[in-house]
Amino acid sequence: MAQHIFKKTTGLMGSRFELTVVAQDSASAHGHLDRAIGEIARIERLISSWDPRSQTTAINQNAGVAPVTVAPELYALIARALEISKATDGAFDITYAAMDRLWTFDGTMRVMPSPQAVAASVVKVGYGKVVLHEAEGSVYLPEKGMKIGFGAIGKGYAADRAKKLLQEAGVRAGIINAGGDMQAWGKQPNGSDWQVAITNPMDKNKAFALLPIGDRAVVTSGNYEKFVRINGTRYVHIIDPRTGYPSTGILSVSVFAPKAELADALATAIFVMGKEVGLDRVNQLPGVECIIIDEAGQLATSKNIDIKTL
Ligand code: ADP
Ligand code: MG
Repeated sequence: MAQHIFKKTTGLMGSRFELTVVAQDSASAHGHLDRAIGEIARIERLISSWDPRSQTTAINQNAGVAPVTVAPELYALIARALEISKATDGAFDITYAAMDRLWTFDGTMRVMPSPQAVAASVVKVGYGKVVLHEAEGSVYLPEKGMKIGFGAIGKGYAADRAKKLLQEAGVRAGIINAGGDMQAWGKQPNGSDWQVAITNPMDKNKAFALLPIGDRAVVTSGNYEKFVRINGTRYVHIIDPRTGYPSTGILSVSVFAPKAELADALATAIFVMGKEVGLDRVNQLPGVECIIIDEAGQLATSKNIDIKTL
């Protein structure tokens, strides 16, 4: 039976999600797509730090007050996020969110926060402070003003879950685009691999490279997406937890990994770690590759990557 491509686009987690599946007919494809979108919406209700009813908000509101027992799924996500923090020396850190109050990347910010305010916000950051109690399934932020946020890992996690749900439902091939975080499996109906374009950060209408992704994820963090311009300098929406200031030096990072969750977190971490340290870390991780474009427009890649430049 002939296989066809079906797509559905929706706004979730403050981003554009595009889900693509390969199926025989429109009715079954749309049933699958709707269930996957329902799954992403469910995850958003769990991890959103904007939604006043989410368990994540409950953790944040109880900072310095009391531990909060949460769903095993949220507990496990937080535990994995803390592991990634350890592996990146805190470059990726969900407690960055205490600094999020100072920086808005929607273009409305006009002046830099004061050095005192930045210094005060950094004090509330530190993945090592988060207290996990496994038997109770509870999470505790021990200081008032601490806050967690999943901005650099949530879309990747959602993409992984949507892929898993669709694979378990018997969908043979598809690609989830979670606001630029891609997670793919199987092949296109014509037998070829799914391809992703790596955007040239110097000109976002041009692609640098076209890469087959096969059965894995690729996630790009780029400073052409969300940034704020103050006194002529562009600041990215990725904040260095050590300094409290947006990270500089890199324009774009793409990470390839089996899981979009890890790729998402690592792309953010590499921005903070910088080119040399970032490449060194990635070269030690089996199954993980990356492409970095620095502020001079220079492209650097990890050891085992093969780029077909356009
Ligand atoms: P995008 O959301 O555009 O895909 P990223 O995946 O790189 O980009 O995530 C950037 C987001 O992650 C920021 O908007 C913020 O919510 C959060 N964030 C910023 N700095 C850090 C950090 N050092 N560690 C963890 N999360 C961060
Ligand atoms: Mg990320």
